[in-house]
Order: sequence, then structure tokens, then C-alpha cells
Amino acid sequence: MPTQTPQNYIVVGAGLGGAVMANYLAQAGHTVEVYEKRPDLRQADISAGRSINLALSVRGIHALKEIGVIDEVMKEAVPMPGRMMHGVDGELTYQPYGNKGEAIHSVSRGGLNCILLDAVEKHENVTTFFEHRCLDVDMDAPSATFESADGSTVTATGDAIIGTDGAFSAVRARMQRMERFNYSQDYLAHGYKELTIPPADGGGYRMEKNALHIWPRESFMTIALPNADGSYTVTCFWPYDGPYGFNRLKTDDDIEAFFNKWFPDAVPLMPDLLNDYKTNPVGSLVTVRCGPWNYRDKVALLGDAAHAIVPFYGQGMNCAFEDCTALNEALNRHPRDRAAAFESYYQARKENADAIADLAIQNFIEMRDKVADPAFLRKKKRQKLLRKLLPNWYIPPYEMVSFTRIPYAETIRRAMEQDRTIARVKYGAIAALLLIAAGTAWALS
Ligand SMILES: Cc1cc2nc3c(=O)[nH]c(=O)nc-3n(C[C@H](O)[C@H](O)[C@H](O)COP(=O)(O)OP(=O)(O)OC[C@H]3O[C@@H](n4cnc5c(N)ncnc54)[C@H](O)[C@@H]3O)c2cc1C
Repeated sequence: MPTQTPQNYIVVGAGLGGAVMANYLAQAGHTVEVYEKRPDLRQADISAGRSINLALSVRGIHALKEIGVIDEVMKEAVPMPGRMMHGVDGELTYQPYGNKGEAIHSVSRGGLNCILLDAVEKHENVTTFFEHRCLDVDMDAPSATFESADGSTVTATGDAIIGTDGAFSAVRARMQRMERFNYSQDYLAHGYKELTIPPADGGGYRMEKNALHIWPRESFMTIALPNADGSYTVTCFWPYDGPYGFNRLKTDDDIEAFFNKWFPDAVPLMPDLLNDYKTNPVGSLVTVRCGPWNYRDKVALLGDAAHAIVPFYGQGMNCAFEDCTALNEALNRHPRDRAAAFESYYQARKENADAIADLAIQNFIEMRDKVADPAFLRKKKRQKLLRKLLPNWYIPPYEMVSFTRIPYAETIRRAMEQDRTIARVKYGAIAALLLIAAGTAWALS
């Protein structure tokens, strides 16, 4: 394996992507300083931020294997080999995601972040600084200035800065002031609110454990992912406004009536529904696109800082981890030219980040609306049959994204090509049948 020339890296943000990248850099022999604005979540009683659990799939698993933490992560992960749809009448429909043995995995965001931070700190060449909020970056030095818990400011200087400080990144904010930096952000009309289904009395799960549960209601939906302790994290993806909106539910009666009407089978599973609903905030859902993600050999962005996406394909974290793998590979390919490494990383990842951003928005429509549609279910069955009959040629789009490391943009191109071929074969077969019928009719006349 090519050796990277040891350098001093500053990683801004010790969330999921930052902690994985710090591990990759430390493994490659670099000196790494990691700065995080929040307190150390292994010591403080704080949530790790958004969403309590997340779906981990093949791209993320690959990175976690490379940094040597996958076994520990998988100990607490709950496999979800399929989705369980809940009708308004309580009818359940199960749909496997992939082939036998394939599953996405529900993991705790906080638990995963703790494992990653422990792994980071096992490296002697890494120093972590918590309660250090990045205020600004000097792109040319390069250096970053942080405000620490006591209000004082410190400046860290290194050879390169990796901005992994999430969707509202301070590092990216500085890059936005560069000439010809492209940036856009788009909020969905929907937000999300998290609720809890606790474990059953005496332990165990109150619903099917090994499934991602969905209550699809056309223009809105609620989902639930299992946790290792028997509970589920329930997430309502509803519009802010309108007849199905968060803002319409003002009183206890409004809240109860809405849940009883749309999610009647979930209500008895949530004894703290009213309290959770009124206490927990509504989070917004944003897509951020920007570029370039790199500045000379000085600064690179990664994860949500480079490309925040909506969570409906369960890929934001997986994509961030895949960025880490790609950046590490680029640094290996250009061991003595970091500017070239950053540039080739950006060129390789940008179209893929744009692709998964589009797929994530499309999948929202599929999850909330189509999964309950009989025609859609038939299409999924046809896809499964084709996968069985032609395993070397046909892979359904969801499986390409979740169970392979085919680049995201390539999954879109390949899915289109598969569809075109199927259409050609179908229309070719129809044309052949028509010709045979016409020939038979002529022969008989
Ligand atoms: C509701 C919801 C559900 C999701 N479900 C999934 C899922 O199932 N599967 C999946 O793959 N993805 C999912 N995601 C997406 C996933 O959470 C993100 O893509 C992932 O966390 C990105 O990692 P990151 O390290 O880039 O950013 P983050 O995890 O946000 O980490 C950024 C870190 O930087 C720190 N920080 C921020 N600003 C500063 C600053 N100025 N100075 C210093 N530190 C700073 C933050 O405190 C944080 O620790 C979901 C997201 C949401 C909102």
C-alpha cells in the first residue's frame, strides 16, 4: 500500500464523518487534531444531535471495516432485512429489501459516535478538543479559530483542514466567500419529529423486530427503526403546514385525534405519545449542494458539510463514510501531492453526491406514497424475479444503493439501462407475437 507523507491535519467536527476520517488519517500516520463544538458525548448526558438511530448499509460498513471498528458496531446493530408497511386499517405488508442474508442495520447514532471516538483516541497521533466551536478559517495559512467553553479563542494551524462540521458547516461558510464557489440549499416542506415506542413490559419488542416500519399516508409518513434495547425510534415526516401538518395540531385533543385517525395501531404502543409529541422539536430537512469542496492542498470538505441530503434513502451517513474512504484512497494515490489528492477526491465524489441527493428526494415519494400501492408492490415482485433469473445483469436500484458499492451516479445510469433493455425485450416480444398472429391469420385466410 502506498505510504502517505505524514502531515498535520486539523479535522473540524467530530460527528460521524469527522471521527471516521480522523481514524483513516491517524492510521496513515498523520498527526491529527480533532475539534468538536459539543461536549464529549461519552461523558456528557447529551444526545448526539439529529436522529437517535440510523440505517447503516454496505458503503458505511466498508469504511468501518477499514478503520477496524465494524465488529464492535455490529454487536449492537439490529438487522432490518425488509420493510413492514402499516395500513390505516392496521393491515401489515412485508417487503424484503434484497436477497436472503442482505439487510440494512439500525444503529444508535450516539453509540456509533462513541465507538468512533474511542477508536480515534487509541491512536497516539490524535488529540481531541471538545467544546471548541469553529468560528472562522484562514484558507491560506491554513488555520482555524475556535471558541472554547470558557469563551477564549484558540487558533490551530496545520498542513490541511478537513471540514466535517455538518450541514451548517463553518468551514464551508468560509469557502462560500471564495470567488466562484457554488452553493444552494433547498428545504423540504416537510420536517421531522421523533417519538418513542418503549420496550414491551418485561422486555422484548412490541412489533416485528427485524424490519423498518413504515406508515405510508401518501403526502406524509411515519417510520420506526428498532433499537438494541427493545425500543423503537419513531420519526414523523410530515409537512409543517396544511391539513396533515405539525402546525395544525395545537391541543392534546388535536394530537390524539390525528394519531388515532392515521396511525391507530401505533397509538397503543406509545404510552408517552402526548408528552413526547409536545416536548420534542420539529427538525428541518435540507439538501445542500456546493462546490468545489477543496481549496488547493489546504482545505477539503466531507460529509454533510459538502452535501447534506434528505434522509429517505438512509444514505447520508453512509455517503459521508464513503467520502472518507474515497479521500483516503486519493491521498494514497497522490502520497506527495495533496492538492492533486483533494482535486481527484472532489472530482470522483461530486457527481455521486448529487446523484444520491436526487435519489433521496425521489425515495421520499416512494416511501410515503407508492409502497402502499398494489402496482408498485407488483413492480417490486417483478424486480425480485428478474434479480433471481438474471443475477449477473439485473440489480434493482434500491439494492444497488444499499447492498453494493457501485458509485451512486452509476446506479442511476445502470437502472436506466436495465429499464431500457427490459422495455426493448418487452416490446420486441409483443411485436413478435403480433407478427406471428398476423402470419397465422393470413395463412388461415
Ligand atoms: C432524521 C434523520 C435521519 C437520518 N437517517 C439516516 C440513516 O438512516 N442513514 C444514514 O446513512 N444517514 C442518515 N441521516 C443522515 C446523517 O445523519 C448525516 O448524513 C451524517 O450525520 C453526516 O455526518 P457528518 O459527520 O457529515 O455530520 P454530523 O454527523 O452532523 O457531524 C457534524 C459534527 O460537527 C460538529 N460541528 C458543527 N459545527 C461545528 C463548528 N462550528 N465547530 C466545531 N464542530 C462543529 C457537530 O457538533 C457534529 O458533531 C439522517 C439524518 C436525519 C436528519
